Amino acid sequence: MNKDTMVVVGGGQAGGWVIKTLRSEGFTGPIVLISAETHPPYERPPLSKNLLRNADAISETALLSEADLESAGVEAWLGDEVVEIDRAGRTVRCASGREQEYHRLFLTTGSRPRIPDWMAASRSGRAHVLRTIDDASSLRAGLASTGHLVIVGGGWIGLEVAASVRDMGIAVTVVESASRLCQRSVPEPVSHWLRTLHEGHGVTFLMGRSVEGLVDEADHIGITLDDGSMLVADRMLVSIGAVPDVALAQSAGLEIYNGIVVDETGQTSDPAIFAAGDVTNFPCSFAGCATRRESWANAQNQAIAAGKAALGQAVHYAELPWLWSDQYGHNIQIAGLPEKAGEVLFAPGPEGATGVWLSLDHDRRPCGAIGVGAPRIFRPVMKALKNGGEIDLGGWEAVNNAEVQ
Ligand SMILES: Cc1cc2nc3c(=O)[nH]c(=O)nc-3n(C[C@H](O)[C@H](O)[C@H](O)COP(=O)(O)OP(=O)(O)OC[C@H]3O[C@@H](n4cnc5c(N)ncnc54)[C@H](O)[C@@H]3O)c2cc1C
Repeated sequence: MNKDTMVVVGGGQAGGWVIKTLRSEGFTGPIVLISAETHPPYERPPLSKNLLRNADAISETALLSEADLESAGVEAWLGDEVVEIDRAGRTVRCASGREQEYHRLFLTTGSRPRIPDWMAASRSGRAHVLRTIDDASSLRAGLASTGHLVIVGGGWIGLEVAASVRDMGIAVTVVESASRLCQRSVPEPVSHWLRTLHEGHGVTFLMGRSVEGLVDEADHIGITLDDGSMLVADRMLVSIGAVPDVALAQSAGLEIYNGIVVDETGQTSDPAIFAAGDVTNFPCSFAGCATRRESWANAQNQAIAAGKAALGQAVHYAELPWLWSDQYGHNIQIAGLPEKAGEVLFAPGPEGATGVWLSLDHDRRPCGAIGVGAPRIFRPVMKALKNGGEIDLGGWEAVNNAEVQ
């Protein structure tokens, strides 16, 4: 056993970027990647977008191919799961029985979809979640014979799937238990804009409603709602959020609180173990508190920081929270913490492009922004949010729900 061995558990966005970073920063020792999925590290954003419409869009997910892993000298154990960490012996044990010693261990186990009890009992194969390439393939195959799709959950993934599926001419009903869309990440005027956008494309919303049960029939499903009514559909997607995959870290006795607790370098409560991506709860300097983020940018940038830190470099992960969504040809960018708004201002984009919403916190300080089709307005706002710079509020107007179409 080589005493330098770096072991990466989880081959998603963060796991892939730990490996890329270790090699680009000059680490020449052994790297072992162990991932439960059979696919080499890939990116998930296309799964709810192009990949639902077009199987060839699989190429958009590529992060590290098997050939890339091989040429980087990475030993990849794909389709195997780490079930135990022996911290004293610095060894991981897999479901297959294989064991591997480590010098430094990276936990990039991500998050997994929240699955309600009523869904777990369904046997028809008509109720889907969307996290992996295999989930996307299964949903895409099912959509070929779907006239009506019910989506439970009006968050980003649910809305992206609604947009993709409407483009395919399939009827969509979204059931959302909150009173507005994407409530946890955007202020009310943006929820309103999203709803108007989708209704304009024929999506039906049942807001303030939750699902209580599912009835499997031979050629359809019945979905019982909390008001006693039943929706009939060919298929459903359940996208009601994700939970951090902490089981392994928890059983190893690492500190857990809404994710694996790490410091600003990605180090866990065990100095030999780092973590990055959706699974971590990290000190966010912008938020001024510990937070967990599920975003492509966080998975990549935190993994880069953790990889460097494990090589002994001085790092301090302090990125501005940022994510994006694509719906009906609109690229929607969300920076900072716009959901903390006490007040929302709006600047329209040029020539019919939508514009930028700016959230001010309760002290009237900018705390986040959402941009749609107006990069010249959005980019300097994002820069100011990142660097703590001033934003001239002169050209901005207060906005209420109904103003922006
Ligand atoms: C459908 C979809 C669309 C998205 N679109 C966007 C978008 O448009 N913009 C954006 O900013 N973000 C988007 N995201 C979020 C972004 O993709 C995630 O934040 C990112 O994938 C997190 O990366 P990760 O490496 O932390 O976790 P993951 O990508 O979830 O990878 C974790 C991996 O670890 C494996 N694993 C778990 N436990 C073990 C174990 N014990 N042993 C071995 N392997 C294990 C899992 O099987 C998985 O392969 C989207 C996510 C999804 C699901």
